[in-house]
Amino acid sequence: MNSFEIIDKLNSGKGATLLEYACLLDNMNEETAEYAKEKAVLARKRIYGNKIFVRGLIEMSNICKNDCYYCGIRGSNKNCERYRLTKDEILACCDEGERLGFKTFVLQGGEDAFFTDDFLCDLIKEIKTRHKDCAVTLSLGERSRKSYELLKKAGADRYLLRHETADKTHYEKLHPEKMSFENRLKCLKNLKELGYQVGCGFMVGSPYQTPETIAKDLKFIEEFRPDMCGIGPFIPHKDTPFADKTAGTLEMTCYLLSIIRLIKPNILLPATTALGTIHEKGREMGILAGANVVMPNLSPVSVRKKYELYDNKICTGEESAQCRMCLENRMRKIGYEIVTDRGDIRKDEENGRI
Ligand code: SAM
Repeated sequence: MNSFEIIDKLNSGKGATLLEYACLLDNMNEETAEYAKEKAVLARKRIYGNKIFVRGLIEMSNICKNDCYYCGIRGSNKNCERYRLTKDEILACCDEGERLGFKTFVLQGGEDAFFTDDFLCDLIKEIKTRHKDCAVTLSLGERSRKSYELLKKAGADRYLLRHETADKTHYEKLHPEKMSFENRLKCLKNLKELGYQVGCGFMVGSPYQTPETIAKDLKFIEEFRPDMCGIGPFIPHKDTPFADKTAGTLEMTCYLLSIIRLIKPNILLPATTALGTIHEKGREMGILAGANVVMPNLSPVSVRKKYELYDNKICTGEESAQCRMCLENRMRKIGYEIVTDRGDIRKDEENGRI
């Protein structure tokens, strides 16, 4: 089967084999990327029209017990100036977010032991009381099933936990020994069973990634059927063991966005800040390849630069209102409209295809 036939197969909802996915990646060129993009945009437009969902990102803490080799806020980075937002600061970000038209708040952070279940449940309940029609998304790493359950009961709607790679050997090259591939997957499974809208994802071009490991990522997405998938290019950070590694590319990230859209047409797929960092028009190109979510930053400007996962991260100087306006204008210029909506997945279209 050639690449065009594999793309057609994905577009008809049949999925692909590991070999076919690897073949798609090996044979990426302008024509295949254009073909995938065309089909992906049609698939997305049929479900979501030209609507783009926004999520207000609140980076709660850059304190992290983990030591992922790629990440700028890894525990052993002594050059990282640490911070943690207080409950009141987080609530103030949400209040500002609602004024700016956000209906989803994403609470993200390192694995900071300060965030006990009691603290988080209290915070989530308070956010849900103040902002009744808003969704709360958590992105706070690996926790116990019991903890996920308590947070869900407190009102959390969604959870983002990138699987990082679906290949165990590759996972072990990106993380120290005490982090476990099996536990990462177990967490994702628990989240799904507990009724969260779940997001997985991976970095494009991470060190030691190959067409075969990406094929496994795609197969994982096909089988796990996440509601969301966060993919963005790997970008090196100067104070990590991967400082000298090469960044992922815009082309491969956009190609994968198109492929993932075809694997699961109703998926919520962000055009990430990392994509906007490797290219001035990266987020626009991500949307034009099949993404349908953007995540402007709602964190206080005073801490933005400290949440530096990779070098030269964009949007660290602007106020939240500026970030929101900037993205709205960028989307309008390419014919898309940011909507004030919780932006839940359209389940009714699960099996609908072009
Ligand atoms: N601690 C939580 C977790 O593990 O899911 C959330 C925060 S973590 C920093 C969010 C994501 O940032 C990771 O899943 C990873 O894929 C991404 N990331 C970290 N370092 C990166 C880098 N150098 N380039 C691109 N993305 C990176």
